[in-house]
Amino acid sequence: MRYAIDLGGTHVRVAAAQSGCEWRHQHSSRRTPGMTPADFIDLLARLSREWGTGQPQTIGVSAAAVVDDDGCLVASENLGWKDVPLRRLLSDAFSCKVLVETDVFCGAAYEASLGAAAGTQSAFYIGIGTGVGHALILNGQVWRGARRGANAFGHTVIDPAGERCYCGHRGCLCSTASGLAQADRPGEDFPLQHLAQAIGNAITLVEPELIILAGGALNQPWFDIVRLAELIPDFSYPAAFQPQLVRSEAADPNLCGALLLSMEQL
Ligand SMILES: [Zn+2]
Repeated sequence: MRYAIDLGGTHVRVAAAQSGCEWRHQHSSRRTPGMTPADFIDLLARLSREWGTGQPQTIGVSAAAVVDDDGCLVASENLGWKDVPLRRLLSDAFSCKVLVETDVFCGAAYEASLGAAAGTQSAFYIGIGTGVGHALILNGQVWRGARRGANAFGHTVIDPAGERCYCGHRGCLCSTASGLAQADRPGEDFPLQHLAQAIGNAITLVEPELIILAGGALNQPWFDIVRLAELIPDFSYPAAFQPQLVRSEAADPNLCGALLLSMEQL
């Protein structure tokens, strides 16, 4: 049995599949603030017992974090974890192969191979949950950046005079247009306009064929994809192609990507 895990700032989702993308077992729960890596391993062990699957064959983890080549969570403000060697911890606990990747890279890889971006050469994937992340798909492949850190769309600076972000800068996109910001102060600070501004800049820079939006915050009242599509051209270079803006059709593309990761197809 393969385990796919989406470890996000707000939720933990775990699914088990025998083969292919058909889930045999699924779990979703709110991530307890202060959840430690040991708590996370305890949760997986409990699910394994409840599901009666025995030891998983492989585990793929999509994590809301910057992840290094060895599956170590180098930084994750949304999890409150830093330098956690998650791949090694899970591998020791479950005696199986474990692969760990940044959540938006998992989601984008799913979209590029089986989702909305299948068959396209370029797409920009934006995950809006607790925070805001992105991944660029170029020539059908996910671009991870020079040091695996090209995922932090939420820290695009929108207003240098804005409030201090937890990253240290002022006026980051995630200070207004994120699930966390809108849960704290719903409707304030023009989140849709800020999102349009950041996407417009991305279009000017990359001119992708398609923009895919995913994540739980798209269900919050402030989000309106029709209005967003109307606003974006005001912030992008007029001669650049205006890509189609779509919502992911997958309930959780990051989780689907984690399964691809467990199958070493990412
Ligand atoms: Zn920031």
